[in-house]
Amino acid sequence: MIYRYETHLHTFPVSKCGHATVRESLEYYKSAGYDGVFVTNHFVDGNINYDRHAPYEELIAFYLTDYYEAEKIGKEIGLKVFFGVESTYSGTDFLIYGLTPEWFIAHPEIHEMRKQKPEQLAYFREAGALVIHAHPFREADYIPYIRLMPRSVDGVEIINANRSEFENEMAKHYAESYGLLVTAGTDNHRGPNQTKFAGMQSDTPIEDVADFIRRVRDGSMELFYEEREISE
Ligand SMILES: [Zn+2]
Ligand SMILES: [Zn+2]
Repeated sequence: MIYRYETHLHTFPVSKCGHATVRESLEYYKSAGYDGVFVTNHFVDGNINYDRHAPYEELIAFYLTDYYEAEKIGKEIGLKVFFGVESTYSGTDFLIYGLTPEWFIAHPEIHEMRKQKPEQLAYFREAGALVIHAHPFREADYIPYIRLMPRSVDGVEIINANRSEFENEMAKHYAESYGLLVTAGTDNHRGPNQTKFAGMQSDTPIEDVADFIRRVRDGSMELFYEEREISE
């Protein structure tokens, strides 16, 4: 038996660029046989569907609405739902695993730290987070240059289903050269309309986020990549 996990998922309305609701996304992953998903919407420093100048308290409350809905739907349909965050630094993105919604509510000071990214990432890691550089070699017109912060992260997303083979290959070289941990994820913004998938799998189910982090650290999970037809 193989237990599969989506590690990089965006939902609408919290992610402004998301095209699928929480329910559409979760029901798809359930039907595709996944054991669980991490909901990793763009954080309040990024492409969130809300006035970014609003107070942090208001932003974080909005931010968490999709996750709370996902938790509820996950219980209803029998899919594990885990919390994650994709934090940005002008186009350089980091996936943060291992901190809870309550932690983010209790730490508004991180919002001020967003412009000093190395300090902010260090702060997350001191609090117990696993920090993964998402698609480090992504090229796009809104990304002026590729920035690497090898001493500020635990690992690298070396397979992102929405990046080119070249970008993923470069990410792999980067991770290997610096001895960084590795993950795979889809970066799914389209729920059931996504055709390329990447993620992590294991022959035993993961218990919780701490268990996931342990397994990423000891390299005991497998990375997978797969292309599928749109089901309907
Ligand atoms: Zn996005
Ligand atoms: Zn993403």
